[in-house]
Amino acid sequence: MPPYKLASRESKPENTVVRVGDCLIGGGTPVVIAGPCAVENEEMLVNLACRLKQMGVHILRGGAFKPRTSPYSFQGLGEDGLRILAEAGRVAGLPVITELTDVQHLPQVCRYANIIQIGSRNMQNFELLKEVGRLKFPVLLKRGLSATLEEWLLAAEYILAGGNREVILCERGIRSFETYTRNTFDINAVPAVKYLSHLPLIADPSHGTGRRELVLPVARAALAAGADGLMLEVHPCPEQALSDGPQSLRPGELAEFMQELQGASYQRPRVSA
Ligand code: PEP
Ligand code: MN
Repeated sequence: MPPYKLASRESKPENTVVRVGDCLIGGGTPVVIAGPCAVENEEMLVNLACRLKQMGVHILRGGAFKPRTSPYSFQGLGEDGLRILAEAGRVAGLPVITELTDVQHLPQVCRYANIIQIGSRNMQNFELLKEVGRLKFPVLLKRGLSATLEEWLLAAEYILAGGNREVILCERGIRSFETYTRNTFDINAVPAVKYLSHLPLIADPSHGTGRRELVLPVARAALAAGADGLMLEVHPCPEQALSDGPQSLRPGELAEFMQELQGASYQRPRVSA
């Protein structure tokens, strides 16, 4: 038995499916989570959310508490951002996901969001993991910037061991020597994690590449490798985005990809020993 007992395939051979509203994550049909990096203002987000719903996106994303490298960068709108995100989701008819960065924000985040995102920088914030482990609430756990698969699955184990079984993993690229891309999307991790664990896996090629023109090719690769869905940053005007503009798709680009996805059958590769 691997050290991440509850997360392992050995402990549970069948895939875990996490239900969020009508949407089944890990249920066989690729799930698309999309939205801006950060919630910026209500009008923009409501309009974008309605457009995303029309395209066939399943879940709306938007950060309200932003973990930024520089203290001078936009830090997010905080509770106002949560309220705007929930309102945009309500108007468009989409469940919403947002990042939790501190235990003190947990009650607000649970009130407004349908999925809690634990960001890369907090993958090993063990107190945060234990807190969300006490809930019965979907949690998307991003891989740490330089976490091994075992460290990542052990982080998931903290949540599972607390009694919360609604864990979704998210590969978002790792640090490498390459500087052309923001991160190196670890395509190996996709089939490896599906082999090692029963948990659903979402691919985030936006942070995984950091470059708009690379996002959709890597998205296709991740689905072909067995990812259960995608998390894609999209902004109506990436040039003016307050965070992560260079990796944000334009709505038209995403609309075209959604059409492609609806026509395509990304065969789920079989997990075999
Ligand atoms: C994000 O999703 O906007 C984010 C900050 O992601 P990560 O934790 O992967 O850097
Ligand atoms: Mn971002």
